[in-house]
Amino acid sequence: MRPATISLALDRAIQRLESLEDRRLDAEVLLAFILGRSRTHLVAWPDRLLSQAQQDAYDKLIERRLLGEPVAYLKGKKEFWSLSLKVTADTLIPRPDTETLVLRALELIPEDTSWHIVDLGTGSGAIAAAVAVERPCCRILATDVSQATLIVAAENFRSLGLNSVDTRQGDWFKALPEGTVLDMILSNPPYVAEGDPHLQQDGLPWEPDPALLSGPDGLNAIRDLIAEASGYLKPGGWLILEHGFDQGESVRRLMHQAGLSDIQTRQDLGGRDRITEGRFTD
Ligand code: GLN
Repeated sequence: MRPATISLALDRAIQRLESLEDRRLDAEVLLAFILGRSRTHLVAWPDRLLSQAQQDAYDKLIERRLLGEPVAYLKGKKEFWSLSLKVTADTLIPRPDTETLVLRALELIPEDTSWHIVDLGTGSGAIAAAVAVERPCCRILATDVSQATLIVAAENFRSLGLNSVDTRQGDWFKALPEGTVLDMILSNPPYVAEGDPHLQQDGLPWEPDPALLSGPDGLNAIRDLIAEASGYLKPGGWLILEHGFDQGESVRRLMHQAGLSDIQTRQDLGGRDRITEGRFTD
C-alpha cells in the first residue's frame, strides 16, 4: 500500500482486521512496534507520514495477524512478570496463568536463601527468569529438550543480566547433572490433550506442539515428572506443576500415589485450577 499518515494507516489496518476481537489494540501495538515507539506516540502524532518501508513492514504484519499468528510472535517479544522476553516459533508464548506458579514459588522460597531450583522445560525462560529476578541468591537451572528453544532462553537470561541461571539441554530430568539435589522443581509442561479442539484456536496452531501436547489425556509429561521427582528432591523439597483447568484432581491423585504430601491445587486469576504442589517429607 502507499504510505499513509499514522491515523490513516491505523484505520486501514483496523478495517482489514475486522474479524478479530482486539483489532484496534493489535493494529496499534503492531504499528508502534514498526515505528519503534509507544502507543502514546500514535495518539500524539496522527498526521505523521510513514515511510514506504514502514508501511510495507506494517502491511506484512497485518497480513500475518489476519491469518491468526499471535502478536507476540509478530513482535518477537512478550511481557511476563514485567520482564520483556524474546519469543520465537520455538518457544511457547508465556501466559499470565503461569504467573500463578511464580507467585506460589516465591511464597515458598525464603528471601536470601540459596535454594537450588530447576525450571524443567523452560521454553522462553519465563519461570526461571521471574524467580531469578525476585530471589537473586538462588541457583537456578533452566532445561529444555529443544536446543533451539534453549538458545532463546539463554538469550533472555543474558539480556536480563541474570547470572544465577544456567541452562542445560535434555529431556526432563535427563538434563540434570548426575547427583543433582534440588530444593524445588518448577515446570509448566505440555498438558493439552491431543485432538483438543482448543488447539485450533487462539493462535495455538503457531505454537510448538511439543510445548503443548502430551498424550491422549494431556497428562503424559506430568505423570513422568511426578514419578521421577523424588529422585532429585531434598527431603521437604517442593514440586510445583502448572496444568490444565480440568486436571487438578488427576494431578493431586498422581502426587498422592507417588508419595508426596502437603498436596494442594491453586487457582489462576480467572479462578480456574492451574497449579498443584506437593513435597516429599521423609
Ligand atoms: N496454557 C496453555 C494453553 O493455553 C497450555 C500450556 C501448556 O501446555 N503448558 O492451552
